[in-house]
Amino acid sequence: MIQNNIRTVMEKGSVGEPVKIEGWVRTRRDFKALTFIAVNDGSTMKNIQVVIEHSMPGFEKIESLLQNGASVVVIGKLAQSQGSEQKFDVIPDSITVPGPVPVEDYPLQKKRHSFEYLREIAHLRPRTNTFGSVARVRNAMSFAIHRFFQERGFLYVHTPIITGSDCEGAGEMFRVTTLDLKNPPLKDGAVDFSQDFFGREASLTVSGQLEGEIYATALKNIYTFGPTFRAENSNTSRHLAEFWMIEPEMAFCDINLNMDVAEEFIKYILKSVLEECPDDMDFFNERIENGVADNLRSIVTSDFERITYDTAVEQLLKSGKEFQYPVKWGIDLQSEHEKFLTGELYRRPVIVTDYPKEIKAFYMKANEDGRTVRAMDILVPRLGEIIGGSERESDFDKLRSRILELGLDEKSYWWYLELRRFGTVPHSGFGLGFERLIQFVTGMQNIRDVIPFPRCVNTLDF
Ligand code: ATP
Ligand code: MN
Repeated sequence: MIQNNIRTVMEKGSVGEPVKIEGWVRTRRDFKALTFIAVNDGSTMKNIQVVIEHSMPGFEKIESLLQNGASVVVIGKLAQSQGSEQKFDVIPDSITVPGPVPVEDYPLQKKRHSFEYLREIAHLRPRTNTFGSVARVRNAMSFAIHRFFQERGFLYVHTPIITGSDCEGAGEMFRVTTLDLKNPPLKDGAVDFSQDFFGREASLTVSGQLEGEIYATALKNIYTFGPTFRAENSNTSRHLAEFWMIEPEMAFCDINLNMDVAEEFIKYILKSVLEECPDDMDFFNERIENGVADNLRSIVTSDFERITYDTAVEQLLKSGKEFQYPVKWGIDLQSEHEKFLTGELYRRPVIVTDYPKEIKAFYMKANEDGRTVRAMDILVPRLGEIIGGSERESDFDKLRSRILELGLDEKSYWWYLELRRFGTVPHSGFGLGFERLIQFVTGMQNIRDVIPFPRCVNTLDF
């Protein structure tokens, strides 16, 4: 007997074979002597149809319980389906209903609900087609990410979630403390963090990169894949306060190899999802964002555009477009600029390199021109940036002077600097926002709908 999984039943079953199906009723249709229920168990977006003859022993006991949302256990045999949508139906010998549903109270009615409403019932939304598909695609992508790196000999490194370093994004960090906020210990008028849990200030990490560099400069190629926290006070459809980031870091690797790896990586993930989740991708293609899967197919087989920041600015100025943020050399590209470059001008993913040093982090390797650094951002149509990366400054003196030039405290970077004193090496890496890639793959508009439990400013409902 094949148990439990509608996907394997559909793929490997044969007519006449006994099966046990466990899932939830999605729809019910009644005829004179027959009732059809469509059952879903999450293993595939497809439902399996159970064809119940009203003469089935015990039918009268469960008849009223077979409602949308009820959990059911069906024991029976596979039969050739009369419908065109699926291969098999199930002809039941017995059906039990462990969990009926008071129909009038069930928040998931048959009509299509808005994503805003579904966010309010995050405990039930995985039972919808859309969120089931998002969950399966997210799962397939997670696994593909590990596979991509593992196949290439990268080590998976767990960088810390609680950090004492305020090296990046100080304004965006969530504080971690056990101090009594109503009555914190004070010293010279300020909070005395020496009495806090760690004896110093601590936060949630905004990136595992700096610790990733420690491992890359010992083990060569590593990656991290973990939760990342940013107190983004902006209410956008592309920012979460808690998101997942993938950060490979590679020793003996310059910016060009870094770009090659990033491009190959993205294509690999897209290809994997298309192959492993065809039904879900058809659904996104038809119901969520017209043509999204077709678009991924074309991305997999063509090159990304590679341009410098100088060229990007030149093209934006030449475009004659009225942008909300006016363009001039030195600005940080805004998402409207990024969307124009990828969606309208080049119509493909674009890698922008060599940004002005003023708008990029202190650790990026300086170019000879003295005004730009070896940064590379990958921009995609509809979304803008999904990857931020760079070659890291590997020269001790240059890195130290940059730290001092920016007025940073060199003592807090002591270990980071030591990596450049002891066996330094050209190295590079990048950070990919996992949810942004899922948005890109599925066509889902809002980042809150591609993570099971979104955390954003003023939102912590589940
Ligand atoms: P943005 O300008 O879009 O805020 P960023 O420059 O802050 O991005 P990085 O610090 O380079 O981003 O982080 C690397 C990647 O992490 C980004 O390319 C993006 O995919 C993702 N990312 C950054 N911030 C968030 C966020 N708040 N929510 C979800 N993903 C994010
Ligand atoms: Mn940001």
